Amino acid sequence: MDFGLTDEQEMLRATARDFVAKVCPPEKAKQWDEEGVVPPELFKGMADLDWFSLPFTEEEGGDGGGPLELILIAEELGRSSFDVAMCYIGVLIPGITVFRWGNDEQRRFIREEVMAGRHRLAVGLSEPESGSDAAALRTTAVERGDQFAVSGQKAWCTGAGLPNTTIATYVRTGPREPKHGGISLLLVDPTTPGVEVRRTPTLARHILGTNEVFFNEALIPRENLVGPRDEGWKVMLSNIELEKVIITGGYLGAAQATLDEMLDYARQRHAFGRPIGNFQALAHAMADLQTEIDSARMLAYRAAWLLSQGKPCTREGSMAKLKGSETYVAAARLGMQVCAGHGFSTESVMSFRYRESIVATISGGTSQIQRNGIARSMGLRSY
Ligand SMILES: Cc1cc2nc3c(=O)[nH]c(=O)nc-3n(C[C@H](O)[C@H](O)[C@H](O)COP(=O)(O)OP(=O)(O)OC[C@H]3O[C@@H](n4cnc5c(N)ncnc54)[C@H](O)[C@@H]3O)c2cc1C
Repeated sequence: MDFGLTDEQEMLRATARDFVAKVCPPEKAKQWDEEGVVPPELFKGMADLDWFSLPFTEEEGGDGGGPLELILIAEELGRSSFDVAMCYIGVLIPGITVFRWGNDEQRRFIREEVMAGRHRLAVGLSEPESGSDAAALRTTAVERGDQFAVSGQKAWCTGAGLPNTTIATYVRTGPREPKHGGISLLLVDPTTPGVEVRRTPTLARHILGTNEVFFNEALIPRENLVGPRDEGWKVMLSNIELEKVIITGGYLGAAQATLDEMLDYARQRHAFGRPIGNFQALAHAMADLQTEIDSARMLAYRAAWLLSQGKPCTREGSMAKLKGSETYVAAARLGMQVCAGHGFSTESVMSFRYRESIVATISGGTSQIQRNGIARSMGLRSY
């Protein structure tokens, strides 16, 4: 494992940092969050930099970037906000899944529309009655000739309310199969009759926005099935480690930016005749936080390296997600204490970090679920 970045990786990081400074600095992300808008230049800018095609091979229309390159982008975007990082990750991950498992037309769609930034993807896995226990999903798809009639409800479908978005929807096609069998992946156009998307009011993450999706006998063409029928669970799992690793990049960037912002404040703000950062109580807390962030970064880079070597990294991916998300929450909590009254004002970027960090240990698999996976890898039967 090499701890240095190549010149190309350094260049990619610098480009991403420049993108955040010019297109989506934290103050802008905060404003978009408050207005609940996602500006078109965000997706277009990412597509113009070829970030959506980065992980695909040259023959597939990409640049052959690996997990580490993807983390570097997510990390820089996370400095803007985790929500902005998700604008990238939330399209990239289902894009890779559909491209790997899809038919020729689906692959063309990913190559020509999604990689070019003209079209987005959202993921509909969770339901009102099934979040951590995702395989308990009940939205059904019944075959009717060359179509599926889909009925049920999805929850937390992030980005599904934006224009030009297709929902990668996990449905139950085999009601009599065992729980993890009988699940299939369907591409659903949310403008299909019988599909209704409703925005969910939330504490944060208002840029992409998250939604409930209702299906009432919606007819979806059979050719929208991605991968083999009844093997959707396998399809979903095929990218789960990569997803954990890249979202950890987003948490790391957000945590580091939160620390940098509180450091700036701690240098400028004076109390008792000295900068507050010189009080050992705060200095040590910030030193501990930098140590935590670096530990999370090492875990994420290790998992990325394992993935790039084609080695298993279920345990390491869960450790990275667990540590990265918990560290972002800890960073925002400390940031509020260091910035004190200033942080509590909703005009501060810190208050925005605090709001959006809370969900880090919930979305993308809760901390308890990550710990279960790690404990199982240790031979414990943790439920
Ligand atoms: C902002 C946001 C964006 C999201 N985006 C998407 C998306 O785009 N697509 C999508 O499909 N889903 C999405 N989700 C859903 C997300 O994956 C779930 O919220 C998450 O998996 C937790 O499910 P739940 O909220 O139903 O909580 P529950 O599963 O009901 O869990 C409640 C509590 O019980 C604990 N718990 C549950 N089971 C166990 C266990 N076995 N051991 C120990 N503790 C346990 C949990 O850790 C948690 O603390 C999003 C959620 C949020 C909040």
